[in-house]
Amino acid sequence: MKKLSLVTKIFIGLIAGIVVGILMQSVPEVATTYIKPFGTLFLNLIKLIIVPLVLSSLIVGTCSLGDVKKLGRIGGKTMLYYLFTTAFAVTIGLVIANLSNVGAGFSIPTDAVVETTEAPSIVDTLLKIIPTNPFKAMVEGDMLQIIAFAIIFGAGIMGVGIEGKGKILFNFFDATADVMYKITATIMEFAPIGVFALMTPVIAVNGPAVLLPLLKLIVVVYAGCLIHAIFTYSTTVAVFAKISPIKFFKSISPAMLFAYTTASSSGTLPINMRCVEDNIGVSKSISSFVLPLGATVNMDGTAIYQGVCAFFIAQVYGVDLSISAQAVIILTATLASIGTAGVPGAGMIMLTLVLESVGLPLEGIALIAGVDRILDMARTVVNITGDAACSVIVAATEGELNREIANS
Ligand code: ASP
Repeated sequence: MKKLSLVTKIFIGLIAGIVVGILMQSVPEVATTYIKPFGTLFLNLIKLIIVPLVLSSLIVGTCSLGDVKKLGRIGGKTMLYYLFTTAFAVTIGLVIANLSNVGAGFSIPTDAVVETTEAPSIVDTLLKIIPTNPFKAMVEGDMLQIIAFAIIFGAGIMGVGIEGKGKILFNFFDATADVMYKITATIMEFAPIGVFALMTPVIAVNGPAVLLPLLKLIVVVYAGCLIHAIFTYSTTVAVFAKISPIKFFKSISPAMLFAYTTASSSGTLPINMRCVEDNIGVSKSISSFVLPLGATVNMDGTAIYQGVCAFFIAQVYGVDLSISAQAVIILTATLASIGTAGVPGAGMIMLTLVLESVGLPLEGIALIAGVDRILDMARTVVNITGDAACSVIVAATEGELNREIANS
């Protein structure tokens, strides 16, 4: 019998999870008690590798870029693509929310619980990027700080010289990154079971009863995600990297499926790296720079979600959002998505920042909290797809794309 591919196996796990979840709707506590722990175990295994992987691969990625000029150029291209596509993503979210009247006809349930978190200010967020103590950042898993440290450290090794004194450090982190990939590959063998165990309780707990009243919001967020993925990524990948969009999406489909079930960009990072390197031919130095950065700062799906949700909450509370208020949303959602961690639910916390910027009631978050996981899964897929698209484009424009693999 032909061996099933990883994506097929994960897909089977996903479908099985949905079916079993539906069957267990009357006993959601059984799914949460007995099945969820296997999903959590799987997620923990993935999380275990994130900090060492991001640190080592970004250090290696940075110093293997060769010189500071190249680092600046690639860093510039990457950030430009990330910022531009994210701003475009919020815009798509707002346009489709306007056109569909996403919040119309929804009445505020009286039992809505107010549970919000104070959003940090933008200046604070920016200042906190540079860690005063890199070890503390690693212990606490502060990804933005780890990224900043890794890039600075990598640039330092480059300054000392990879062939000189820096060699031992380069080899050390290079080996560490390889070990992390190896561990990832082993953990991925269990992905179908992990995905099944993550999916079942989500469906069992959030059955149709919870979903129906907010169905329109879900459809609009999913539609926004789909439009952005198909339009923005297909076009940019085809134009800038000269790669067929079908080839692109097919190549990263295991990562997309994985992101859908785990709702974590960081957790999907190792598999995303494998997909773009092995299936599209992106060089290791580009993927290990662009992807860890993207998994933390580039969140197009989150931006779409924030745009749609801000509009939804405005409509539900009868607030008219002017064009200038919507422009403020585009700006804050772009910044908020940069500060969003690549973990489940982070985008909802950062939504408070967006709501605050235009004076919308934070209580609105309570309305969407019940279905947030369903929205989170879709936005995470878009988040990691944007990272992959950027890595392909940067690699292509730098001549670091293996055309034999890319055009096969
Ligand atoms: N879960 C998302 C991610 O990891 C972040 C979010 O909550 O929007 O990409």
